[in-house]
Amino acid sequence: MEPVCKGHVLVVGMAKSGVGVAKLLLSRGYQVVVNDRRSRSEMEASVARLEALGATVVCGNHDLSLLKPNLDFIVKNPGIPYNIPLIQAALERQLPVYSEVEVAAWFITTPIVAVTGSNGKTTTTTLIGEMLFHSGQQPLVAGNIGTAVSEVVGHAQAGVPLVLEVSSFQLQGTASFHPHVAVLLNFYPAHLDYHGSFENYTAAKWKITENQTSEDVVVLNYDQPLLRQRAEQLRARVVWFSRLQLVSNGSAVEDGWIVLRLDGKSLPVLRVQDVALPGEHNLENALAAVTAAWVMGGTVAGIATVLQTFAGIEHRLEYVGKQEGIVFYNDSKATNPTSARQALNSFPGPIVWIAGGLDRGDDFTILEGLLAQRVKAAVLLGQSAQLLAEVCQRAGVPVVNLVTSLAEAVALARDLANSGDVVLLSPGCASWDMFTSFEERGRMFKNLVHTL
Ligand code: ADP
Repeated sequence: MEPVCKGHVLVVGMAKSGVGVAKLLLSRGYQVVVNDRRSRSEMEASVARLEALGATVVCGNHDLSLLKPNLDFIVKNPGIPYNIPLIQAALERQLPVYSEVEVAAWFITTPIVAVTGSNGKTTTTTLIGEMLFHSGQQPLVAGNIGTAVSEVVGHAQAGVPLVLEVSSFQLQGTASFHPHVAVLLNFYPAHLDYHGSFENYTAAKWKITENQTSEDVVVLNYDQPLLRQRAEQLRARVVWFSRLQLVSNGSAVEDGWIVLRLDGKSLPVLRVQDVALPGEHNLENALAAVTAAWVMGGTVAGIATVLQTFAGIEHRLEYVGKQEGIVFYNDSKATNPTSARQALNSFPGPIVWIAGGLDRGDDFTILEGLLAQRVKAAVLLGQSAQLLAEVCQRAGVPVVNLVTSLAEAVALARDLANSGDVVLLSPGCASWDMFTSFEERGRMFKNLVHTL
C-alpha cells in the first residue's frame, strides 16, 4: 500500500527497474534521489532523462551520506546484496528497503497473477500471458521477464490482467505485495550466496502469499513435498497442478491427456504428446500455466492452442540448427545445476555438453547419473570448469576437456560430435564470470554455431 504522505526516496541501482521506479515515483510527486556505483558517463542517457524529470542523480559510489535524515524509504535493485554498507546502515535505522515490484504494485489495482519458483518462471509466465491472450483477454506481462513492472503501471487498467514473473530477490523486498493468483512452481537450492540459506530463500518465495486472503488463489505444485506440506497454512484457496498424481482440484495428467479436474469432473485440455514444448519440466510449467490461466477465466480452446503451438523462448532449450546431422541447442538460461539437469534429461543422448561459468558453490553431484548415461563428452569453461571436470570424471564421462573461451568450446564440441549427437550449451552456472548476461552468452553461442 502506498504511504499516505509522499516523501523522500532513494533508489539504489540504475538498471531498467531502478530507472522505471524513479520515473514512476517522480510522476506521483515524490522527491527522488537515484544512485548507482557506475560512473555518470556510463549511464549518460538515463542520467539526463531522470534529471530532466527532477531527480537528483548520484553516481560513482554507494556513499553513506546518501542516507539523509528525511529519507522515507529505499528502493533497492534486486541484484544488489543486502550486505553492502549503505543498505546495512539503512536497515539499522529501520528504513524500509523495498524492491521495485513492491513499489510499482502500490499503483496497480488490476488483478495480478504472480509466478515464482526456482526454475520455469519465464516459461510459465509467458504461457499464462499467451493463454489469456488466446482466450480473448488483453493481459500485460512484466516483472523479472524483461519489462519492469513500473513501466506497465500506466497500462494496467481495470480488466487488464497483469502477469508478473517475480524472483526471490524481488519478493524479499516486498511488504504489501498482493497478487490475486500466486503460482509457486518449485523450490530447488539456488541463489544461496544471496539469501544465506535454503530456508531464507524459500521464506522469500513464500512472501508471494503473505498478503493473500480467502478471495485469492494459490497455485501449487503437488509433486513438491515442500509446497504440499505448507498448503494448509495458507489463507488463499489452494489449486494444484501435478505431473504425477491425479489431484482432485487442479490440473493433472490422465490417460495421456492434460486435464482440469474441478468440482468432481475431468475436463480434457490436450494430449500430452501434442504439447509443443519439450521435456518433463516443461510439462510441469504447462500444467501450472493451465491452472492459473483457467482460474483467471482462460478458455479451454485458448489454453489448448497455446500448448500446441508455443515452442519455447530464446535461451531455454532453444533449437539453434543442424549441421551434418549434429543438432545444436542453446540453454544458456540454465544458470543452476537443476536447470542443467532438466536439459540433460530432455535428450536421450549422446550429448556433447558445454558447461561451466560463475562458481557459486553449487552442488553438481545431482548431475552425475545423467552425465553417466547420456554425455559422451564435456567441454568446460569458466570459474567452475575444474569443479565440473571432477564431477564428470567421477560420473565416468569418457572425454572431458577444459577450454578458455566459448569460441574454443563450440569448435571443440563440433569436432567431438558425430551425426545424431546433440551439442548442448546448458552451463548450470551464471554467466557473469565471462559474460555480461546469460543472453550475451547464448547469443554468442548461436553466432559461433552459425559460423562453424
Ligand atoms: P526461470 O525464469 O525460472 O529461470 P525459465 O523458464 O527461464 O526459468 O527456464 C530456465 C531453465 O530452467 C530452462 O532452460 C530449463 O533448463 C529449466 N527449467 C525450466 N522449467 C523447469 C521446471 N519446471 N523444473 C526444473 N527446471 C526447469
